[in-house]
Amino acid sequence: MARPHIAAREKKYTLEVLNSGVLSLGKKQELFEKKFAKFVGTKYACAVSSGTAGLHLAMIASGIGPGDEVITTPFSFVASANAILYVGAKPVFADIDPLTYNIDPKKIECAITGKTKAILVVHIFGQPAEMDPILKIAQKHHLKIIEDACESLGATYKGRMAGAFGESAVFAFYANKQMTTGEGGIIVTNNKKYHDLFLSLRNQGRGSNMQWLDHNRLGYNYRMNELSAAVGLAQVERLNWLIKDRQLVAGLYNNFLAPHGELIQVPEAPPHNTHTWQVYVIRIKNPDISRDKIILELQKGGISTKPYFPSIHLFSFYKDRFGFKPGDFPVSEAVSNSTIALPFYIGLKKEDVKYISNKLIEIIKKHAKRV
Ligand SMILES: *Cc1c(COP(=O)(O)O)cnc(C)c1O
Repeated sequence: MARPHIAAREKKYTLEVLNSGVLSLGKKQELFEKKFAKFVGTKYACAVSSGTAGLHLAMIASGIGPGDEVITTPFSFVASANAILYVGAKPVFADIDPLTYNIDPKKIECAITGKTKAILVVHIFGQPAEMDPILKIAQKHHLKIIEDACESLGATYKGRMAGAFGESAVFAFYANKQMTTGEGGIIVTNNKKYHDLFLSLRNQGRGSNMQWLDHNRLGYNYRMNELSAAVGLAQVERLNWLIKDRQLVAGLYNNFLAPHGELIQVPEAPPHNTHTWQVYVIRIKNPDISRDKIILELQKGGISTKPYFPSIHLFSFYKDRFGFKPGDFPVSEAVSNSTIALPFYIGLKKEDVKYISNKLIEIIKKHAKRV
């Protein structure tokens, strides 16, 4: 379904690291962080071991803790809501927009209580959430904005990059994202105090002068290793091309699938957004067609696809802990029940995209006749 794009430069930098003997906190990481911050347009970037680790530290820096509520979307990868739980706060979900699948600003306002401290905005699938109204609500109610930009590296809202809106923002580098470091993540911010805190927290709470034995707070081992940083440096140097190539593949899908608007909804972005395509997700329009059966039949045709995403509030852990039930967030649930992520990666050829698209439409048409 996904595969990373690894070129000669990634191999060269990795070999340099192996030959250097410095396998953590080295020069490649420093350069990677610098170039990454420049790309997003923030002052600072702190590389960490995963996007999830980055979200945890972002919560800590924003002072989120027990008794606080953080508003976020139920339609996301589970890590975004889990990060709120890591610091003892409560995730409060607000339903999503049925076209972009991002959090619906109107639903945010209804979810605010006296305990609300922040909004964790997730930019889903490769396009930014509707930031102007979200920023307005945050300002009005004195809420902090933290961004989970893990899926939307390089995407813009009204010309401004995802990751440049919150007091901090997190990106992730698992192999299916716009760029990869194997495992890894990064936290960007314009706040020097936060950045210093991130550097300390990722490294066992050591003092900023990096004295080995001075631990002045509870920290973690969330360091990125230097081999990952080497891959990351090569990828960030090629990032504009990586994103353009993703947009090309998405364009191919759009061409083949958009004419079938009566059967499926292709991904939609408002004109003020640019989309950088972490995944290509279509939605089956007829709610009576079983999405799971479509996935099984595609599998038989040699095409692997995935339901994307299940709604977080209906995971058993969340249901047991908070008493969520079906119907709580109807838009998110309807989208969860009808979306399919198609194979999507750089190098997918026009013939492949055509084959997948034709097969998909053929199978949906067959099922449409039955229901
Ligand atoms: C990938 C992702 C993360 C972080 O993932 P890691 O595997 O921990 O790097 C967080 N939130 C969202 C929405 C993601 O897609």
